[in-house]
Amino acid sequence: MTNKPRILIVYTGGTIGMVKDYKTKALKAFDFSQIIQKIPEIAQLNCVLESISFEEPIDSSNMNTAFYVNIAEIIEQNYNSFDGFVVLTGSDTMSYISSALSFMFENLCKPVIFTGSQLPIGDLRTDAKENIITSIEIACAQKKGVPVVQEVCLYFEYKLYRANRTTKINADQFEAFTSMNYPPLAESGVKLDFNTHYLKKYSKTKSNLIVRKNLVTDVVVLKLFPGITENTIKNMLAIPNLKGVVLESYGSGNAPTASWFLNLLEKAIKSGIKIVNVTQCAGGSVQQGHYETSFNLKKIGVISGNDITTETAIAKLMYLLAEDLTEKEFRKYYETPLRGEITT
Ligand code: ASP
Repeated sequence: MTNKPRILIVYTGGTIGMVKDYKTKALKAFDFSQIIQKIPEIAQLNCVLESISFEEPIDSSNMNTAFYVNIAEIIEQNYNSFDGFVVLTGSDTMSYISSALSFMFENLCKPVIFTGSQLPIGDLRTDAKENIITSIEIACAQKKGVPVVQEVCLYFEYKLYRANRTTKINADQFEAFTSMNYPPLAESGVKLDFNTHYLKKYSKTKSNLIVRKNLVTDVVVLKLFPGITENTIKNMLAIPNLKGVVLESYGSGNAPTASWFLNLLEKAIKSGIKIVNVTQCAGGSVQQGHYETSFNLKKIGVISGNDITTETAIAKLMYLLAEDLTEKEFRKYYETPLRGEITT
């Protein structure tokens, strides 16, 4: 028996696992069991590595909540036999997927690190190698036998972020993600530096991992823009079975004061639809009541998303809508940080 940390790599698809067929120039998924062959440097890491692959690797644009459950179940089934997990997905929807997983895992006390790459692993200038190698190092990091990271994170281009704080901001550059409202949890340079202060605090009470697999997908994002019509909003709020709306408002949570607009929202809230106010700005937060243009939203019962990202606002809606909560409890839980996703 070895004392080396045991790390499970879960490969779901995305650019990272692709190689170029130099004849046809097309990108195709490679057999992930050959990962050590593709990155021989991995053998130098002081850990025991195993990998599991989706039977059919997918582009992250094809992700849905059934795949989230697949990932969660792989981790659940292997939770006790591994010290950490590195999940490889496409970067396009990685912030959505990893945010959702952060809510699905309750009492998580092992690292779950999401990563991917902008260039395929077989490409000469690939960013995949650094992203995978450092993600594994982070998943291995322990202090006195306890994992340094005990939450769901996203590692990309030398920075480790809390997953539910991230957004993909660039389709071309290696620095594809940012976390506007929360500092990086670690930075990788010559050394790997953890910003210990910002990591989830280690909980001394050991509770078993709970995996919440019910997610409600009857949600919609309603992005405001000057000129949006009554008809558009009316039809969106009339979607059959609609249960939750992420309202992307302006600035610090501001929206039109027109009575048709407020009446439509109020009617939806009275019918039981949960409406959460998030800002369209990349950074900063909603402060309902700060301006006259957000005062009424608060009055009619719109929930404040504070500084939550849109990706995480959706994930949190999907998660909380599946719980049996009263109106008051729903608001309370939504406005309280459950996995460090909002600032208090
Ligand atoms: N389209 C790819 C995906 O998200 C892009 C990537 O892997 O970065 O699956």
